Amino acid sequence: TQIMSRGLPKQKPIEGVKQVIVVASGKGGVGKSTTAVNLALALAANDSSKAVGLLDVDVYGPSIPKMMNLKGNPELSQSNLMRPLLNYGIACMSMGFLVEETAPVVWRGLMVMSAIEKLLRQVEWGQLDYLVVDMPPGTGDVQLSVSQNIPISGAVIVSTPQDIALMDARKGAEMFRKVHVPVLGLVQNMSVFQCPKCKHRTHIFGADGARKLARTLDLDVLGDIPLHLNIRETSDTGQPIVFSQPESDEAKAYLRIAAEV
Ligand code: ADP
Repeated sequence: TQIMSRGLPKQKPIEGVKQVIVVASGKGGVGKSTTAVNLALALAANDSSKAVGLLDVDVYGPSIPKMMNLKGNPELSQSNLMRPLLNYGIACMSMGFLVEETAPVVWRGLMVMSAIEKLLRQVEWGQLDYLVVDMPPGTGDVQLSVSQNIPISGAVIVSTPQDIALMDARKGAEMFRKVHVPVLGLVQNMSVFQCPKCKHRTHIFGADGARKLARTLDLDVLGDIPLHLNIRETSDTGQPIVFSQPESDEAKAYLRIAAEV
């Protein structure tokens, strides 16, 4: 109610960007960044005529540089805007390009907000059909500020099927609704583990938790991503699975989700 009573500030579009899709999660470590990266690649893979960008506003723990195998300082354009770095056909911008990899990001309050402002307004994206935004986990000031400052086509919420993650995912969905951002649906990550040797399937974080939550919140489940070694390895080595193993079942799960958004 506090948010509503303040009223929504005017949302100025990001120049050249048609659709902004934010990827959010209630808590950290559930696979939000992995989903954001593979979703961006999948949107481009599903339709090669689409230009896709990836913006990492997870200012406290930017993981896009590593996952997209990118580092370096963005060049400045003539109008003093930062040029995104490019890999696998995706234009990327991250706090990680602006600070040393090993430097702890200890900014608070205003400094974080001015960093967000830079990332939202001072990047020369060119023409993009989709900009996928990797949000920080939770429902704090950064998420609220991003949601209120730019027009967002929809939010994808990532959760494991565990109760604790789902409780936080629910808060995320409610926050987006309050600021009138359409929630496209939930991605249930790490939903099942299949033993590579005996093929036995185990629901390590419980089964179908996200589906139940989606029903109570009247949300769609966009898809399930299994807990799989190849997802972890490709993510950690900067060769995201949708790019490096597009024919795998895991990559296909991301491609299906991209077709839904
Ligand atoms: P978050 O952005 O929510 O903090 P990450 O995307 O950084 O989470 O993922 C956390 C860790 O879990 C990473 O090491 C990532 O490679 C791994 N991971 C994410 N999703 C999966 C999955 N479906 N299967 C295996 N590992 C995964």
